[in-house]
Amino acid sequence: MLDRLGLLPAALQCLVPQAGAAWIDAGERRLAEMPVTAFDGRGYVSTEELLRTDLARIVHRAAGPGVTHRFGETVEALEDTPGGVLARFRSGDAEEFDLVVGADGAHSRVRALRFGPEERYRKPLGLAHAWFTLAERPGTPALDGWFLIHNAPGRRSVEARPGRAGEQEVGLTFAADTLPPRHDREARLALLDRTFADVGWRAAEFLAAARQAEDFALDTFDQIRMPSWRDGRVVLLGDSAWCASPLSGLGTALALRGAAELAAALDAADVLADPGRLPAALAAFEQAMRPRVASAQQLPPGRVASVAPRTALGIRANALAMRALQSRALRPLVRRAMAGTEHGRTAAQPTTVATTAG
Ligand SMILES: Cc1cc2nc3c(=O)[nH]c(=O)nc-3n(C[C@H](O)[C@H](O)[C@H](O)COP(=O)(O)OP(=O)(O)OC[C@H]3O[C@@H](n4cnc5c(N)ncnc54)[C@H](O)[C@@H]3O)c2cc1C
Repeated sequence: MLDRLGLLPAALQCLVPQAGAAWIDAGERRLAEMPVTAFDGRGYVSTEELLRTDLARIVHRAAGPGVTHRFGETVEALEDTPGGVLARFRSGDAEEFDLVVGADGAHSRVRALRFGPEERYRKPLGLAHAWFTLAERPGTPALDGWFLIHNAPGRRSVEARPGRAGEQEVGLTFAADTLPPRHDREARLALLDRTFADVGWRAAEFLAAARQAEDFALDTFDQIRMPSWRDGRVVLLGDSAWCASPLSGLGTALALRGAAELAAALDAADVLADPGRLPAALAAFEQAMRPRVASAQQLPPGRVASVAPRTALGIRANALAMRALQSRALRPLVRRAMAGTEHGRTAAQPTTVATTAG
């Protein structure tokens, strides 16, 4: 997708190299490891990561002067008019648009305004995840390119992965379907403190760092499942329409693909010449994306449980499974499974080529 958008060179410059993933005990002894070279470099752990903030910067820059960005703004109401949709903004501004595309993430306001409350579409997976960037200091343990995962009984996981030079990306995963309100940062941090108080390895260091982190975030792992992504001149795209959860590893690819398919459908129908063709164009977009989304939302069996096993026995069994997957006997099966799910594609469903991307 980035190649077709002409953004690949910029993305390649930002890649964060990785050595692999390792499951460790509280003393950082390795219970299992999966180097990026496993499965010929096309397995669970990619050789490089593109950080979301880097991708956002690249896409933002590429949008060019024809696109107006209104930072710090949000939509408060969407009203149908004879020729479009009138969007009323929090600042008091109002503007009429031919088409409103809600690409505002899993907790989409556009979705809430037009399609109803989040609870109607949200399928919690039973886990919550906090993440933030840790600035390395003298004495910060080095990761040497490894994504380190320490599981503790009670469905808790503490993770650190390589970030930009001098930074580590930290994750804390635990069992929860609901969380304190988003605006109550202190309640959210206190929940983490309580949940991870007795967890070893670097948990105490990370809990302290979370309080200082500017990019601290906490959310549940959810999927969004909707019977339709369009209503009149409003359409949803990306996580707002079909969040497959971070556990799918496909959310970004799906969001970019969705944008390209939507642009292609609008272009093919030439809706600017005849707005009457808009419903058919949006239907074509939805038809193109449905199979991909269905495939991405189909998490492999045991995927959720393996992120944060319940018991010490489960943690050991998970490590054993990670080693077994790389055995000579199972390697071909895993390779086949990975090829089948890459970017939501299945063998029976070849890539459709969008003529326009945007
Ligand atoms: C911890 C974590 C790890 C992940 N790992 C991966 C991975 O390895 N691979 C992968 O492919 N995907 C991963 N994902 C998922 C991926 O980040 C998302 O699927 C992807 O970002 C979805 O893109 P989007 O544009 O639909 O939504 P988002 O990226 O969520 O963007 C939505 C945008 O809308 C803005 N917004 C929200 N509400 C409003 C409002 N009311 N008014 C104005 N603006 C608003 C937000 O600020 C944001 O900029 C991960 C997600 C998380 C949380």
